[in-house]
Order: sequence, then C-alpha cells, then structure tokens
Amino acid sequence: MIIAPFFYIFSLIFLPLSKPKTKAPKVVPQAIVTQVIVPVKPVNPNTKYIYLTFDDGPLFGTSNCIDICLQEKVQASFFQVGMHMARSKFGKDLYNRILQHPDVFEILNHSYTHANGKYLNFYQHPDAALLDFIKAHNSLKLTNNLVRLPGNNAWNTLNHKRTSALVKPVVLKLDSAGYNVMGWDIEWDFNKQGKPLESGEKMARIIDSSIARNRTLTKNHMVILMHDQMYRTASDSTKLATMIGLLKKNPNYEFRKISQYPGLKNSGH
Ligand SMILES: [Zn+2]
Repeated sequence: MIIAPFFYIFSLIFLPLSKPKTKAPKVVPQAIVTQVIVPVKPVNPNTKYIYLTFDDGPLFGTSNCIDICLQEKVQASFFQVGMHMARSKFGKDLYNRILQHPDVFEILNHSYTHANGKYLNFYQHPDAALLDFIKAHNSLKLTNNLVRLPGNNAWNTLNHKRTSALVKPVVLKLDSAGYNVMGWDIEWDFNKQGKPLESGEKMARIIDSSIARNRTLTKNHMVILMHDQMYRTASDSTKLATMIGLLKKNPNYEFRKISQYPGLKNSGH
C-alpha cells in the first residue's frame, strides 16, 4: 500500500533523468525527415574524378606511395594481397600505416595468393578462387565489397559487365557473393625490373588526353592502375609525385577513393 505510491513519486523524480533502456525507434516520422537540411556539395559538371589505385602491396614501394599521397594530399586506394600483409611484420606494419589514414586511403581485396602467379589454373577453379578472395577479405579485415582480379582487367558493377570467357565463372561467383569487380582505364606500365616505363610528365599527358577524348569506361571517371613496387626507389617515386603534381594543376580534377566510383552494388560485407 505504501510502497507503490512511493515508487510512483520516486519514478517521477528520477526516471526522466535516467538513460532510456530502449533504443530510439529507427523510423523517423516523414514530417521531421523533410525538415532536415543536409548540406550537399554542389556538383560541378566539369569535374573529372581521378582514382589512383596501387596493386599488389604491401611491398617495397608501398611506403613511398603512402608518403607521396599524404604529401600531395590526394586520396588513393590500395588493392592488397592478403598473403603479402600476413607473411611478415614488414607487411603488417605497412598495412597498419595505411589504416591510420582512413580519410585519405582505403584497402581493397586483390585476393590472398595473387593466384600464385598461375592465372590460368586460378580462373579454371572458380570455387577455390572465391575462397581465396574470402580469405583475403578476412585477413585484411575489409569492410568494403570491392575486389580486383589478379592479372586481369575485368569489371562487374551495376553499370558495367566486362569479363573475358576465362574469368567469367569467377566473376559470377564474386557477384553472387555480393562483390563488385573493379578494373582500370589506364595502367602505368613497368619493365622487367619493375620500374616505371613512362615518365610522370608523359603519364599526366596520357591521362589528360584520355579524359578529354572520353576514353574511360565511365565518362569523367579515370581509374589509374599502378603497382606499389614501381616506386621503391627515390628516383622512381619522384615520377609518381611529378604525375600527381601535374594532374593537381587542373582545377577540374578531383582525386577520390575507388569505393566512390559510380554504379557500385551496396556493401553487403
Ligand atoms: Zn596484381
């Protein structure tokens, strides 16, 4: 008789101050949603998006790629090989350095073994290949759903399906597992010693011209493939800085991470 009213009064005084135990409802009334003003960056129709993508790391050269992109303040994407990270402290340290800058960099799936260099065998066994990508996904602790095939320029997004007959079974398996497969528009080639074939100036000219002539898979979106190992010496990494510096002079160019590429399936991972 006495306890109940006392508790009632007690609850009126104290309970409103206590943290609610139940979560706020997820559904927000429409009337409130429409009143929220979300700042949206105006889209400049002249903007051309540049995606710097570095493959096969962590390797010698990765450190210079990180330093140069931080120095130049440009975003970049690292398609990493799980095994190259997991096999040594060197690999893990580089992987962790990239993770320390989530505003500038992202890490994406480039398989666990890189097919051990035996591409024909890799693509002829699609179930094993899918497991290889899943192993990389787990070892690299990835939260995105973008992959790049080892040694093959294939695309599979909502907007683009471009695969050779050889890799198609693997691409379909990746598609069913919720992955986007990302290729590239231009590769900065390297020689037998793994050194860049072209100068930074020439690469910037090739990129400018390809964008101007609309030679990209998606108009005004340029994906550049490079390999970390190309920039392991000071003189070769200077070429990377030169190319980026020249591209930055164009006020219409904007550097982005590859996860911002248009037409991607939503992440299920
Ligand atoms: Zn590769």
